[in-house]
Amino acid sequence: MPELPDVVVYLEALEVDEDEFRAALTGRNRTLKRALCDPTVFSGIGNAYSDEILFHAGLSPVQRTGNLDPDEVARLYEATRTTLVDWTERHRQAVGGGFPDKVTAFHDDMAVHGKYGQPCPECSVAVQRIVYADNEVNYCPQCQTDGRILADRSLSRLLKDDWPRSIDDLED
Ligand SMILES: [Zn+2]
Repeated sequence: MPELPDVVVYLEALEVDEDEFRAALTGRNRTLKRALCDPTVFSGIGNAYSDEILFHAGLSPVQRTGNLDPDEVARLYEATRTTLVDWTERHRQAVGGGFPDKVTAFHDDMAVHGKYGQPCPECSVAVQRIVYADNEVNYCPQCQTDGRILADRSLSRLLKDDWPRSIDDLED
């Protein structure tokens, strides 16, 4: 008989209460972006949705899960639910059923994902990005990072070899 793979428990973010959500999210101390995108923590949240969730929660993508206060956990929990419900509904109306787990491309109706340089729908400040590998994190510096620019393209060129190649590298 072939060896069985390790059993991985996937949590559906829409099926957990706030306590379970916090426990799953903060199981390891790492960036919010990485925790939300980790398919072994929550299934169905990819790069696009995690950008949208963090925007609606008003939290930085590089904030550590270990630094969340109860109010921030509550905001993240609500933002996760409303974002996933909203996009599931949009997807149903568009193609008739199923969860849009393949939405990794940009979508015009998203607030910050794929909107680098465009005005934030809440505050009109230009959406920023952190580029890594062939992907990028989008966020609003006004709504999410207290006005701080985490990184931009010119900075990434300056840093060259030091620039994060993956979301994992953002943690160092
Ligand atoms: Zn904003």
